[in-house]
Amino acid sequence: MTDQSAPLMLFNSLTRALEPFVPVHPGEARVYSCGPTVYNYPHIGNMRAYVFADVLGRTLSWKGYALTHVINITDVGHLTDDADAGEDKLEKAARANAQSIWDIARHYTQAYWADIDALGIRQPAHWSIATDYVPAMIEFAQSIADKHCYELPGGLYFDVSTVADYGKLARAATDEGEGRIEQVEGKRHQADFAIWRKTPPGETRQMEWDSPWGRGAPGWHLECSVMSGKLLGFPFDIHTGGIDHREIHHPNEIAQNQAFCCAGSLADPANSGARMWMHNNFLVERSGKMSKSSGEFLRLQLLIDKGYHPLAYRLMCLSAHYRSELEFSWEGLGAALTRLKRMVMAVVQLKERAEQGIDTSAWRSHAKLAPLVERFDAAISDDLNTAVALTVLDEAVALKKIDPALKLAAIAAFDSVLGLNLLTLDRTALRLRPKAATITEDEIAQRIAARHEARAAKDFARSDTLRDELAAQGVDAMDGDPLGWDWRLG
Ligand code: AMP
Ligand code: ZN
Repeated sequence: MTDQSAPLMLFNSLTRALEPFVPVHPGEARVYSCGPTVYNYPHIGNMRAYVFADVLGRTLSWKGYALTHVINITDVGHLTDDADAGEDKLEKAARANAQSIWDIARHYTQAYWADIDALGIRQPAHWSIATDYVPAMIEFAQSIADKHCYELPGGLYFDVSTVADYGKLARAATDEGEGRIEQVEGKRHQADFAIWRKTPPGETRQMEWDSPWGRGAPGWHLECSVMSGKLLGFPFDIHTGGIDHREIHHPNEIAQNQAFCCAGSLADPANSGARMWMHNNFLVERSGKMSKSSGEFLRLQLLIDKGYHPLAYRLMCLSAHYRSELEFSWEGLGAALTRLKRMVMAVVQLKERAEQGIDTSAWRSHAKLAPLVERFDAAISDDLNTAVALTVLDEAVALKKIDPALKLAAIAAFDSVLGLNLLTLDRTALRLRPKAATITEDEIAQRIAARHEARAAKDFARSDTLRDELAAQGVDAMDGDPLGWDWRLG
C-alpha cells in the first residue's frame, strides 16, 4: 500500500451510506456548496459548513483530484422560512435598515469573505452570485414549466408528484404537512414550491425581473440548481450544505434537477444532479447566542474581540466529526487555542532548527514518517475523520530524533488538509488582544522586560510588584510556561 492509497469513503446523505468516492470525470472532483444568504453577518455555526466543505476540498486535493469548487452567494430568493413562507430575507433587511438591497448584499458578502479568509478556507474556483444568474434561472424554469410546473396567482409552482422519489433525501412524506410549508390556495400538493414568485399587484420589490410568469423574483431552490448545473455540469460529484438543507432546500433542488435532466428515479443517485450529497451537522450553543436575532450573536469577530484566534475555532471544528453535533463553549475554544499554540510553537522551534528549510524530498519514505502518513490518510479517507487526523498530526509534532526538515515536511503535508496555517503562524499572530483590554502591547512588553531584569538581578520584590501591576490590568505574567509564552490576558 502506498501512503495515500486508502479508498476515500464519504457518507452520502441520499443513500444514507458510506460510499467510495468515484469521480464522474476521471481525475477530477467537482463540488458545489450552498453558500450564505447575505442579509446579515454569518454566525460561527454557518462558518462550520464552510470549514467542512474546505476540508472536503482539501482532502480531494490530497487524494490527487483536480478540484473545482463552487460556493454561491444567495442575494435573492431566500425567504424567512426555508419552505415557501414569509418574505425575502434581503428585502426585509433592506427595509429594516432603510438601505438599498444591493448595499446590504455587498456589505454582508464582504463580511462573509473576511471570515472565509480568517478561517483559512481556500478560495473556491467560483463564487457564483445568484442575481447574476436570473436570466439562466428563467431559461431553466421555462424548460421544465410545461411538464413539471403550474401557474397560480402567486407565481410558478413545481409539482413534486411529477418526479420519482420526491423527498428521498429528507425521508419525508410528500404530502403530509410539516406545518412549515406555506398554505397557498390552489397548490396541488403541500410540498409543491414556488420556482418563480410574482410581485403581488400594487407592490414593487427592490429586486425584480420580467419573466414569462410576470415580474417577480426566482425561488431560492432554483438558483442552486441553475448555478451548480451551469458551472459544474450535471451530474457533478458532490453537493454540500448544512443538515437543515437536507429537509427542504436540497430535496427541492433535486426535484428540479431531475425534471431538467431526465426525470429518472433516484435509484441512480446521479439523476439527483450530484452523485453525492453531504451535510455537516450543526454547531449548537445552549444560551441561544447563535441566533442572529439575539443582540451579541456568535460571529467570528466576537471570538477575535475576546482574544481568540479564528484558527482556534477552525481547530475546534476539526476536533469533532462533521456529522456530529458540536457544542460551542468558551472553555472548548480556549482548549483549542492552547492546542493550536502548542503546535505553532513546536513548528516555530523546528523552523529555527531546520537550517535548510523544509526537506520535501524523501520524507514520505522515512521509517518514522511513512506509518504516520498512512494513518493520516486512513483517517481522512474514513469520511473525513479530522479528529483522528489531528492526533496523527500531534504525533508527528512530538516525534523525537528526526531531522527537523523532514518533520516539517510531514507537518506541512498534513496541514495542507487541515488548513491550520501551522507553517506561517507565530506567537505574535496568535496572541490577539481582547478588544476590551486597556493596556497596550508595548506597555506589557516593557513591564515584562523590566520584570525579567529584576529577576535576573534577583530583585524578587520588584519582580513581584511588576507582576501585581500587570495582574491589576488583567495580564497574567507566565513564568516557566511550557509553550514559552511570557504573558496572557486573563
Ligand atoms: P444560510 O446563510 O442561513 O443559508 O446558511 C449558510 C450555511 O450554514 C448553510 O449550509 C446552513 O445549512 C449552515 N448552517 C446554519 N446554521 C448552522 C449551524 N448552527 N451549524 C452548522 N451549520 C449551520
Ligand atoms: Zn443552495
